[in-house]
Amino acid sequence: MTIDVRPTPEQRALQQLAREFAEKEIAPRAAAIDAEPDPAVAFPWDIYEKGNRLGFNKITIPAEYGGLGLGDMESVLVIEELSVADGGVGTTYFVHNSLVYWILGACSPEQQKKYLSECVSDPEERYFISVGDTEHGKSGDGTPRSFRRSAPMTLGDFATAEVIPPAKRRERTTVARREGDNWVLNGMKRFITTAGRNKLYLITATADSSRPDFEATELFLVPANTPGVSIGHIEDKMGQRAAQNAEVVLENVVIPESQRAAGGLRSIGVRGNNLNTLCAAVFVGIARRAFEEANAYAKERYKGGTKIVHHQAVQRMLVDMVIGIKTARLLTWMAAHEGDVRQPCAGAGLAKVYASEMAVKATNDAMQVFGGYGYMRDFVLEKLVRDARLGPIYDASNEMIRHGQILPTFAVLGTA
Ligand SMILES: Cc1cc2nc3c(=O)[nH]c(=O)nc-3n(C[C@H](O)[C@H](O)[C@H](O)COP(=O)(O)OP(=O)(O)OC[C@H]3O[C@@H](n4cnc5c(N)ncnc54)[C@H](O)[C@@H]3O)c2cc1C
Repeated sequence: MTIDVRPTPEQRALQQLAREFAEKEIAPRAAAIDAEPDPAVAFPWDIYEKGNRLGFNKITIPAEYGGLGLGDMESVLVIEELSVADGGVGTTYFVHNSLVYWILGACSPEQQKKYLSECVSDPEERYFISVGDTEHGKSGDGTPRSFRRSAPMTLGDFATAEVIPPAKRRERTTVARREGDNWVLNGMKRFITTAGRNKLYLITATADSSRPDFEATELFLVPANTPGVSIGHIEDKMGQRAAQNAEVVLENVVIPESQRAAGGLRSIGVRGNNLNTLCAAVFVGIARRAFEEANAYAKERYKGGTKIVHHQAVQRMLVDMVIGIKTARLLTWMAAHEGDVRQPCAGAGLAKVYASEMAVKATNDAMQVFGGYGYMRDFVLEKLVRDARLGPIYDASNEMIRHGQILPTFAVLGTA
């Protein structure tokens, strides 16, 4: 048996490039972006344009389409570095780079060439891909509008809360109706990362309401400037504010059959799982930053007759952070390796669940090391706590991953 998940010299060079970019371009701006009260203007285009020029939105695009032709391992190395400086920037790139794999898995060679070449040759360096899957009623039962502190009535609220009786709700209420050579899409998606800043959506929609939800779902390539596509409420998130999230409204959007992903959702396969792998890297990065801050502070702060790093209680928190970060990184790298060799397994889900929960704990412990200062807004800890808290919720929630992906693998653990 050979186990070697160490990065190659080329991967180390890319990691170093991302680290320098993060330190120079992102870190000095992260607090100001976080403090911007209007989520509609927080998105730091200049940072993203520079990052895209370095190729961070082309990592997973095959070389034949002009991309870097690299894989999950390179993606997680870059995303961890970006997330040390700002988790929101890491999230924007994790989503985009994962979706390249959705296109490679679900789309025909012609579709791949058209959209991935567009990304590579975008003169503005503003090409991002979003996935519009989540809806008001999809996955859970939907949140009644009255629970939101501020929001206009939306198409999604209307469709799920007012019209469709709960017992008859399908998971997806966005519908695709066939009309000759075209499809007509109507519906609304919620919380969509990079919506309003992207150039392409991958939209899921129900094409045949007589079949079970997943079987009836088709995936469509929808350029963001298609007539009938607009964004609704821009989410005012408690953290990761450098990423933009918004509702996506689809009103009689006419999509030719050539823009229906040829293989559909079912063919995203193993590579589509890398959404979880790349997501895990965001939280390894956030936790690493929390450790770096706490470790440096503990070596300076003098209390109880000594530097606080000499108190065993503080040491234990710091050591537990290191154990958690290193374990999460190893799981993430192993999942990246599995993705790169196309090995079907639950490693991606394991990595995402572990890394995101580890980051919630590590950021909280780092705040504890800072004492009262950790709770103050002029220290970075409270931002890290807010940024980390998203991890167990999004992508697929950790509950969904635990019960959908990880639980079924218990049977094969002994043979792994
Ligand atoms: C910042 C952010 C970015 C996002 N980006 C995107 C995006 O780009 N594209 C996109 O399509 N979606 C996106 N989402 C949506 C995200 O995937 C969902 O929020 C997530 O899947 C949870 O769904 P929900 O919010 O409807 O919660 P619900 O499904 O209502 O879940 C509520 C609770 O019930 C639990 N639960 C729900 N279903 C199950 C189940 N089957 N088994 C066990 N427990 C369950 C959940 O874990 C949670 O604790 C984003 C969300 C956020 C917050």
